[in-house]
Amino acid sequence: MPASSDLRLGRRTMELLEQLARHTDEPGRLTRLYLSLAHRRAAEATCVMIEEAGLAAQIDALGSVAGRWDGRRPDEPGVIIGSHIDTVVDAGRFDGTLGVVLGIVAVEELRREGFDPSCPIEVLAFGDEENARFPTNLSTSHALAGRYDPAWLDGKDSGGITLREALVSFGGDPGGIDALARRPGSVRGYLEVHIEQGPLLEAQDRALGIVTAINGISRARLAVTGEAGHAGTVPMSMRRDALAAAAEMIAVVERIGARHSETVATVGAARVEPGAVNVIPAEVRWTLDARAPDDAVRDEMVKAILEECEAIARRRGVTLAIEPTMDSPATPMDPHLAALLGNACCSIGEEPLHLASGAGHDAVAMAHLCPAAMLFVRCKGGISHNPAESITVEDADAAARALIESVRMIAG
Ligand SMILES: [Zn+2]
Repeated sequence: MPASSDLRLGRRTMELLEQLARHTDEPGRLTRLYLSLAHRRAAEATCVMIEEAGLAAQIDALGSVAGRWDGRRPDEPGVIIGSHIDTVVDAGRFDGTLGVVLGIVAVEELRREGFDPSCPIEVLAFGDEENARFPTNLSTSHALAGRYDPAWLDGKDSGGITLREALVSFGGDPGGIDALARRPGSVRGYLEVHIEQGPLLEAQDRALGIVTAINGISRARLAVTGEAGHAGTVPMSMRRDALAAAAEMIAVVERIGARHSETVATVGAARVEPGAVNVIPAEVRWTLDARAPDDAVRDEMVKAILEECEAIARRRGVTLAIEPTMDSPATPMDPHLAALLGNACCSIGEEPLHLASGAGHDAVAMAHLCPAAMLFVRCKGGISHNPAESITVEDADAAARALIESVRMIAG
């Protein structure tokens, strides 16, 4: 193993992240939306970085950057190291980009050492992970899995530009999307390194984590309807207060969401009608978002929440309407590949934490194509989607060394 004392790989990682952070659509803050000018420049810069690491690189029909090291047997199923370089508005510099940069640093180091891979090694920088510009869902990684929805091309951004138009101006090729699909069985494994975007690694004092599964999500819109009345004249015993009922229901969401250590349930929005200081609330519209790494646990959680909410509605004489809006299954990570990542962490002296991912990632799409696994890196305060996003050079160094060990195990 390369000596870790000088943190050479961590410093190199920070240097490349710094270079990519310069490409932004908005001066003064980092915003790099899919198919924007900043995305184009970042993709070109990523291409150059991959080429300087000694690999062939190109920007594909959907704007993803693809670098490739053929290895001894170019026809063997290879390993893909990937993540994304698009960002949310006013982003941090690590979300997504860290995984791409670590892939570059890993191949750079492996080539420097004279490593001779037995199978191809690819580094991929996807462009549409955040859904921040068009109404898509991991479109660039789904394309590799042969699951690109052509309707996405007609989706519009807030300025009325379709994805198809933006793709053409970017220099992409809507006609080349089908050819991006990889043959099933042609990829040995997908590895994605990503900041945790949550506080668990920091709380447990671990630099690295192995993702067990990416949480499934259930969402619903709910409406509680009672009866408006004068806040001064209607006695408490004769009210059908929609907000008091909704408040009880929201407390149920919080209580049942906390029953399991790995489930979360959130009421993120609520609107009260008519919403006046002297009127008993007639209606509350609110949202439910419930996530779990296991679909059966999530179904059970949602069922328990809704049953208790219905009981509250009956007892209080209000009506409860429930409209489910999302039911997205969990994506378990490949146990063998995850174990290999775990062994790689241990081999560099980093005992990893095993944890579920509460956020979605390109690995969700790639898991439809090949075994997929994710390595999480501790981030300060668990903060993400925020310019305050930050990791240490020590943790970046550890992640690089763990990734290099993993690739050595897979392609040695
Ligand atoms: Zn991300």
